[in-house]
Amino acid sequence: MAVLKADVVVIGAGAVGTAVVRELSGFDLSVVAVDRLNDIGGDASKANSAIIHTGFDAPPGTLESRLVVQANPLYDALSAELDIPFRRVGAVLVAVTEEEEAELPKIMGKARQNGVFDLKLLTAPEVLEMEPAVNPDVRAGIHVPRESIIDPFLLVVAQAENAAKNGATFITGCEVIGLRSADKSLRVATTRGEIETRFVVNAAGLNADRISGYLGIDDFRMHPRRGQFHVLDRTAPVQVQHIILPVPTKITKGKLVTPTPHGNWLIGPTAEDIDDRMCHSTTREGMEEIARGVHKLIPSLDIGSTITQYDGLRPVRTPGGYHIRSFESLPGYLELSGIRSTGVTSSVAVARYCCSKLLEMGLPAGEKQGFDGTRRGIPCFRDADADTRADLVRKDPLYAHVVCRCETVTEAEIVQAIRREPGARDVDGVKRRVRAGLGRCQGGFCGARVPQILARELGIPLEEVTKKGSGSRILTGRKKVLDEECGAW
Ligand SMILES: Cc1cc2nc3c(=O)[nH]c(=O)nc-3n(C[C@H](O)[C@H](O)[C@H](O)COP(=O)(O)OP(=O)(O)OC[C@H]3O[C@@H](n4cnc5c(N)ncnc54)[C@H](O)[C@@H]3O)c2cc1C
Repeated sequence: MAVLKADVVVIGAGAVGTAVVRELSGFDLSVVAVDRLNDIGGDASKANSAIIHTGFDAPPGTLESRLVVQANPLYDALSAELDIPFRRVGAVLVAVTEEEEAELPKIMGKARQNGVFDLKLLTAPEVLEMEPAVNPDVRAGIHVPRESIIDPFLLVVAQAENAAKNGATFITGCEVIGLRSADKSLRVATTRGEIETRFVVNAAGLNADRISGYLGIDDFRMHPRRGQFHVLDRTAPVQVQHIILPVPTKITKGKLVTPTPHGNWLIGPTAEDIDDRMCHSTTREGMEEIARGVHKLIPSLDIGSTITQYDGLRPVRTPGGYHIRSFESLPGYLELSGIRSTGVTSSVAVARYCCSKLLEMGLPAGEKQGFDGTRRGIPCFRDADADTRADLVRKDPLYAHVVCRCETVTEAEIVQAIRREPGARDVDGVKRRVRAGLGRCQGGFCGARVPQILARELGIPLEEVTKKGSGSRILTGRKKVLDEECGAW
């Protein structure tokens, strides 16, 4: 098998890996990102609270606090450049008990230590004026004006599309199974062949220890801390304008209620230390725990408005903390580990920090001529006004064909999601890029049509279309019947 050559290989295409690849795509280098999953988007990066933190409650004096605090202000420009949904809704932290109220001055002090100076202490009436649905027993609160919300998957997709536009290559379904240094180069063994490179960035999240382990680095371990969530329907009767936060504990930021940029509400997460890095499931206990937690903040919140649940795995490092480190004995190798609970936010600052480290390590610094840091999103039919809709249909008649009725997603949007680079290769990839199947019926209606469009666009038999890569085929043996049933389309 021929050996692929690249100047830099980034292992992992989650929020951190893709931000690094985009940053590197500004240099005159060949950059290849590999991910074991069928699609870019990462693991933790696609299943989290979707908040762009200010860093007010990060551990002061740490690399994490520095990078999160630096990252937050970058999102106004970044979201405009990449055309992604981002809203500075602000957060209200709510103290309901006397003990929680006693924590508020400490939280204010911690924020000041972190260089976050725009928090404001709130009296109980002020909290209730900002958010009338909050528990009437509230004793006091804190307003955090710059806590913000984003679509984390579109953040990753947009960074990857922009990096690809600037020459970076993404190889998915490509698991790294070995790594060794040889004659001033590094050899990356993958399930799709070997890559020879001068620089490797380990952005493998939960598997960062395994990748470092291939090079004999054995001084830390990773394990998953599961966080489960409910997703509430847009029509949920209790609606809040801000992110509603509990008083955090040493272990977790607690169970919160947050709007999404798409008009839904997320409630959660749990914080459960588990062993299985592949475990993705929600539990009845987890869901009940979330309900108890958020009812303390908003007693009238209706869990019956849940349309689905999900879970994400925080990549927890022991010993803890963000680690971005190179090794004198391993020229060209940069390890990123412990980016646990704030990595969506910090990814953009991590990427810049990472590049400065790589330059110190000898990365050639030539800037790429013609680098273009902008990317346009797929025009969204649902959010368009009547004139824009008519214009979209005129230019592409597939905009007249609504496939997902709950989210009003058209065939034109799905086709673009597949044809872009790196494009959707499975049903979940389509869902995350354009929201087909993410609405109230959760794909009950469009679940038959999206695989057909994928099969047509990818030029593969319908039976080979998967939900999320190998082992998740959607159809076996009933293709003929389904074709006939869908013939009316
Ligand atoms: C419940 C929960 C809530 C959170 N809330 C927030 C929040 O509100 N705001 C915030 O900023 N952060 C939040 N986070 C944290 C954030 O999600 C993570 O810090 C961030 O996603 C880490 O990004 P990553 O790219 O390092 O990891 P990942 O997204 O996990 O990406 C790592 C990638 O490496 C790939 N990989 C692993 N092993 C290999 C291999 N051998 N070969 C090839 N590829 C490999 C994986 O497939 C994966 O795609 C939360 C996390 C969780 C779980």
